[in-house]
Amino acid sequence: MAQTRGNLFILSAPSGAGKSSLINALLKKHTDMKVSVSHTTRSPRPGEENSVHYHFVSTDEFKALIEKNDFFEWAQVFDNYYGTSKQAIESQLDAGIDVFLDIDWQGAQQVRKIMPSVQTIFILPPSKKELEQRLNNRGQDSADVIAGRMAQAQSETSHYNEYDFVIVNDDFDTALADIEIIVMAQRLTLKAQEDRHQVLLNSLLK
Ligand code: 5GP
Repeated sequence: MAQTRGNLFILSAPSGAGKSSLINALLKKHTDMKVSVSHTTRSPRPGEENSVHYHFVSTDEFKALIEKNDFFEWAQVFDNYYGTSKQAIESQLDAGIDVFLDIDWQGAQQVRKIMPSVQTIFILPPSKKELEQRLNNRGQDSADVIAGRMAQAQSETSHYNEYDFVIVNDDFDTALADIEIIVMAQRLTLKAQEDRHQVLLNSLLK
């Protein structure tokens, strides 16, 4: 079988929709899927490790990377900069690994322009009440930050209709299976299967 290039997926969601937990569960189950580690100027939260959850950099360092044209996409989210470096994704895709970008709607708009084959998924919480509870339950941010994030959640959600797929994260296992179905279907498209099974197709059609 020929080595096919990996597929690129974007997962966006309002903060508190459960996107990070879904991505973690997905990567645990599938060693042939990876999430890109972004750069950010925000401070690490408790338990977050540099180069694992994010590459934590200063604003000056981030701006220097913009100048060097090192970013595939970048955006200002809340009061901080976030960006996906080209390096974080190209080698993985070349190695046939499916890569997930955990990025916001602004980044998704940029990536669609550069790579129209990207498949984009928007995750919704099951209700506004549940979203509020989930943001409170985190216990990591102050009340001000939570109120700000509720407003941001609405603004992020207003972009749901720019995405190819929409998943409601009511039941975790169902939402996880929904993502898996999208990834698996993408691996079976005509283009992917033609690349992968060139030898078979040639022998059958000779
Ligand atoms: P958090 O600070 O909670 O980790 O992330 C805040 C928001 O920034 C989330 O919506 C997340 O998807 C988004 N984000 C994280 N990394 C990137 C990135 O590299 N690019 C863009 N555009 N958004 C990102």
